Amino acid sequence: MNYLSKRINDLEESATIAMARLSRELQEQGHDIISLSLGEPDFVTPDDIREAAKKAIDDGFTFYPPIAGYADLRKAISEKFKRENNLDYKPEQIVVSTGAKQSIANVILSLVNPGEEVIVPAPYWVSYSQMIQLAGGIPVYIDTTVDNDFKPTAQQVKDAITPKTKLFIFSSPCNPTGSIFSKEELKAIAEVILPHPQIYILSDEIYEHIRFEADHESIAQFDFIKDRVVIVNGVSKGYAMTGWRIGYIGAPVEIAKACDKMQGQFTSAPCSIAQKAALKAVSTEWSHYEFMRESFLRRRDMVLELMQDIPGWKFNKPKGAFYVFPDVTYFFGKTDGEAVIKNATDLCMYLLKDAKVSLVTGEAFGDPRCVRISYATSDDILREALKRIKESLAKLK
Ligand code: PMP
Ligand code: GLU
Repeated sequence: MNYLSKRINDLEESATIAMARLSRELQEQGHDIISLSLGEPDFVTPDDIREAAKKAIDDGFTFYPPIAGYADLRKAISEKFKRENNLDYKPEQIVVSTGAKQSIANVILSLVNPGEEVIVPAPYWVSYSQMIQLAGGIPVYIDTTVDNDFKPTAQQVKDAITPKTKLFIFSSPCNPTGSIFSKEELKAIAEVILPHPQIYILSDEIYEHIRFEADHESIAQFDFIKDRVVIVNGVSKGYAMTGWRIGYIGAPVEIAKACDKMQGQFTSAPCSIAQKAALKAVSTEWSHYEFMRESFLRRRDMVLELMQDIPGWKFNKPKGAFYVFPDVTYFFGKTDGEAVIKNATDLCMYLLKDAKVSLVTGEAFGDPRCVRISYATSDDILREALKRIKESLAKLK
């Protein structure tokens, strides 16, 4: 008998984390696996930020911080919103959490009642669908494809709205597609949501700094909708701080208070030392960390060039984040002589076995036609990985 709750039995493991774990286990067994599965910068956190953390330890920041984060950090985030996004968020509208992941969970649990619908354009980041279902909500997906740059139109969003819709969640720059919404596209979406006062918007902007050709635009810039928008952001990606676990929201005061109450019961405030490191990060002009974006851009261009050399798959040019999300349907129905590749998951397992390269199946992101390649790793590793993938794909007949 399974004594665990229905809640946990229904919850799927994070596919990005599961694939990263599998790669690690295979590596430990001596297999030469290249992991392009986990989306995290390969840079060590910059020195100035690490120094701030060391100082925080020496200065005795070892006690429980206020639940929503230290006052100086919330003030610095408020200033960051003004400086970088031209948005007004007072410190009481900001809640700092243990990663953007917790911020998103807080918001979903604070807003979504069982049976309410949450519109999510697919492909979407893995955890949205599971968090919505954990809250008892019903994800309503909008299908997009590589041909329209994986972006839903305002009309598609409008068509998905019902009287039960409570929330619209999306990321821009998007994980896993790298797509970025323009100001006009966001405005059009905001306009179709506006006439439905029960609908809130969760705008996941964690990849804000990892963008190439396009400017970062936030849907919160439109005053007519701002009081229904929650911005989620954090320091994991833009400052190479994945392990520190600091994320935050900018939100209407009532939602910020709800998230404060939520984490007051679940986790308390995020780590005191990590908060002081994040304070250094967000109060520094981001141009100081620009070298990371430059290197992601160089790698993106290199990966796209190498991918062009591989027949069969179809992909867009990602404008941000550090992923490429090729459509691999061309390979479905082909075989390596042993098994037939039926879907993206089969293709990922084949590449893991044959090329010894781990990717993540698009199924985890709501698009079973695609696979996700994370290029947040060194040029040499990327070149070797693409060479192996090319050889393995060529064997499929
Ligand atoms: N949103 C997106 C789109 C992500 O890719 C990630 C990466 N894990 C997160 C949120 C969560 O980030 P964090 O490390 O701050 O929890
Ligand atoms: N966001 C990263 C990814 O999509 C990290 C893994 C995770 O948090 O799920 O790979």
